[in-house]
Amino acid sequence: MKEQNIRILSLLLAGLLVLTLFAGCSKKKASEPAATIQVENVAPTGKLEGCGLYVKAVENLPEDFIFGMDASQVPSLEASGVKYYDFDGAEQDVFKILAQNGVNYIRVRVWNDPFDSQGRGYGGGNCNADTALEIGQRATKYGMKLLVDFHYSDFWADPGKQMVPKAWKDMDLDTKADALETYTRETLQKLKQAGVDVGMVQVGNETNGAMCGENTWPAIVKLMSAGSKAIREVYPEALVAVHFASPDESGYRAYANALRDNGLDYDVFGSSYYPYWHGNLQNLTKVLKQIRLNFGKQVMVMETSYAWTGEDFDFSGNTISDDSSVDKPYPYTPQGQVNNLRDVTQAVVDAGGIGVCYWEGTWITVGGASKAENQKLWQQYGSGWASSYAGEYDPEDAGKWFGGCAVDNQAFFDAKGHVMEGLMAFNLIRYGNETELTMESTEEVQLRVTVGDAFTLPETVNGIMIDGSRQAVPVVWDKDPAELVDPGTYTINGEAAGLPAKLTLIIENVNLLGNPSFEDGVDAPWVLENLGGCEEVHLEEKTGDSRTGDWHYHFWSPDADKVEFTLEQTPADLETGTYDFTIHIMGGDCGAYEVYAYAEVDGEIVDTAPMEITAWNEWHSGTVSGIEYQAGQTLTLGIYVKAPAAGAWGKIDDASLSIR
Ligand code: CA
Repeated sequence: MKEQNIRILSLLLAGLLVLTLFAGCSKKKASEPAATIQVENVAPTGKLEGCGLYVKAVENLPEDFIFGMDASQVPSLEASGVKYYDFDGAEQDVFKILAQNGVNYIRVRVWNDPFDSQGRGYGGGNCNADTALEIGQRATKYGMKLLVDFHYSDFWADPGKQMVPKAWKDMDLDTKADALETYTRETLQKLKQAGVDVGMVQVGNETNGAMCGENTWPAIVKLMSAGSKAIREVYPEALVAVHFASPDESGYRAYANALRDNGLDYDVFGSSYYPYWHGNLQNLTKVLKQIRLNFGKQVMVMETSYAWTGEDFDFSGNTISDDSSVDKPYPYTPQGQVNNLRDVTQAVVDAGGIGVCYWEGTWITVGGASKAENQKLWQQYGSGWASSYAGEYDPEDAGKWFGGCAVDNQAFFDAKGHVMEGLMAFNLIRYGNETELTMESTEEVQLRVTVGDAFTLPETVNGIMIDGSRQAVPVVWDKDPAELVDPGTYTINGEAAGLPAKLTLIIENVNLLGNPSFEDGVDAPWVLENLGGCEEVHLEEKTGDSRTGDWHYHFWSPDADKVEFTLEQTPADLETGTYDFTIHIMGGDCGAYEVYAYAEVDGEIVDTAPMEITAWNEWHSGTVSGIEYQAGQTLTLGIYVKAPAAGAWGKIDDASLSIR
């Protein structure tokens, strides 16, 4: 153990020396006079040897692998009163704590002008060029490089939203490209003059088919190229990066082709990877590897994170909680959080990639005792995800849902700002820390049965070991299945190997539809009528986007006025009676949509039930009840969807038809 620590220390010191020398060289080459930031030598903390978390060393990890941390929210949190503490409990610059624990890159988002007409900040850290400068100086001071993430928007840019900055709203494409080039150049020059060590710059954030108000590839790449040109000019040693979300083989190939065909000069193809929604790690490796090999680009994960608890700390709901219906490859524990970081790193290394950035591992609660108290701070300092002032720019989303932090349970600091052991993983991933292999929790089980059918509860559940592996263990449940007869959803608790176990039992009415949850993996007996010529309307296998099971029906169109379709089926041999039909949908960006469930008897619609579409993972049902039916008639049940906005998308799942 001791020998290993000495090795860690000496390797890190050697690494720092190299970094310092390298920083010295690049400054000499600088084209313009730059201030010099005194780099402080940062040694790993002594607590490293006492870490209780299990970490298997990543195999074949390159010495210069990028371990990034997006820490954009920090200045606004500090202004709100947040303090950070190191492993000795001493108040410390959070950037120093990050450097001590093996983080070697700091990522920062940059918005053009995140302020309203009265100068009030939109929130999300009010991150503009000045914020990037402050963060860049602090990162450089502790020997870390800066990754500048230009959103080319005045607020959050992601696959659902790529709004043009206010000042560029009425510009034609050529003028906008000039403005973007100038803005990129001036922002980077500011950083350069202050001596900030910029290692990489992103042109756009999660630009899946749109950026800066444009949604055709020639226009997007024209703008990206303007940014790339400015980056090459000001920081010739820095890498130029692009960044997409949702790793998917054909999707990413299409993006890479579009970038190549339109002539973008770039180095790094980055991807977000959130295990809740983005498939498994084998897929991530495969997708990144094909880009590296087929397009000759470096690849990395630009954003990942994982919850260490299901709790919320700031009275503003979190993206991930114990109730989230998403992929959950690890328990929401500090060990689960570390296992995700370790496994994502291995997956990227296996793809020949250059780095992994954790997203906002320093974004914690502003610490007030009530939502009202926190709301004041979020409004005043921009320390929530959005303030009400953002409504002027983004009325539909921020204007309605402004609030605090949705990821305070995914940070590496607790609610009081104390660093948690998990942060050590960035160092330990290099060397391993294989503690005794114990069982940490058990895997939740879901059981779905039809009313009247006999069933038994499982005799074993999977225990989750701290290295992420599974072991079956006997379980004792606290309910007798004989007592559970009525349709409904039941939570059954149990005990297995001294740990709590949980089973969700769903007793369903006899469902008279075929393939009701699309789990057959084929359309039949559903029939699609694509009335508007929507480009993507089809069956899809993606657990994280399904309400239950792995399959659902998906739609998306980049164009306006194309999403209009019906999806229906006509069950045979029904008996005379009164029926109820239900179906579910979720989606977003639909504009003035019209969605309803319907029942048709002998070709005539007899009743409809209007349905809502709000946001990702917010499922809404539509129920047509009391359908009177005589044997021999034709009964058709379906959903009608019309969503006129460009970029409208959604998912349909879980239909049922029951007789009273
Ligand atoms: Ca929260």
